[in-house]
Amino acid sequence: NKLLSINNLKVNIEDKEILKGLNLEINKGEIHIIMGPNGGGKSTLAYSLMGHPQYKIIDGEIVLEGKSINELTADKRAKNGIFLSFQYPEEIPGVTVEEFLRTAKTSVSGEVQKIMAFKKLLKEKMIQLEMKEEYAARYLNLGFSGGEKKKNEILQMSILEPKLAILDETDSGLDVDAIRIVADGVNKFIDESRAILVITHYNKLLEYIKPDYVHILIDGKIIKTGGIELAEEIDKNGYENIKAKFSN
Ligand code: ADP
Ligand code: MG
Ligand code: MG
Repeated sequence: NKLLSINNLKVNIEDKEILKGLNLEINKGEIHIIMGPNGGGKSTLAYSLMGHPQYKIIDGEIVLEGKSINELTADKRAKNGIFLSFQYPEEIPGVTVEEFLRTAKTSVSGEVQKIMAFKKLLKEKMIQLEMKEEYAARYLNLGFSGGEKKKNEILQMSILEPKLAILDETDSGLDVDAIRIVADGVNKFIDESRAILVITHYNKLLEYIKPDYVHILIDGKIIKTGGIELAEEIDKNGYENIKAKFSN
């Protein structure tokens, strides 16, 4: 049930080494958390997994279900079941949440999504996630609150049904509602056929999603892996102790 292996991954952005030999193993059914100080390379890892062209693999390998995906473009990786939640910052008046999600599903699945069938699928997912039906008819990002943007990411994940979902919860403040939306989305998404990697520093979120592993990423490497107690230790003592103990 091995899903992803990252072996000694080194990634450059514009000739600067950001990931410096990162290792990570993810099995199906698991929830993994990555924490770490700002600038350590967490988002770089997410973009590198997704195949963002700016992030150049210099060494090492990303293996998904036994096959190297190093050379695959982002759209191929999406078709192979990798999903990165992505906030579309612009408002797109004239495009509803439903239309946006239908287009995304068509592109990732390679199958045209018929309007009525997709409506039904979307409705089921929204009921599961306890989202109000009228949300689907809203114009994308137009006047969206933080929580409503989160809903869009979680709905995307739930509709696209990736094997590996990556959620990068950036430093922008998540309020209690948004944390609940993310936690709920994670818990309803995870099953024996998929896995999820959440980048976060919100301990509140960890209480709700019960991760299998917590990894600390500092200066381009995962320097320590543990359980939820690791997150609690960081919350109490910060990163300095761990950093001093493990970097050389
Ligand atoms: P984190 O998500 O852990 O805060 P990032 O992956 O965003 O860390 O950044 C890691 C390092 O890479 C930082 O030093 C940052 O300045 C640099 N970096 C990130 N994105 C870019 C970019 N597009 N161009 C140049 N440097 C970047
Ligand atoms: Mg950052
Ligand atoms: Mg980041």
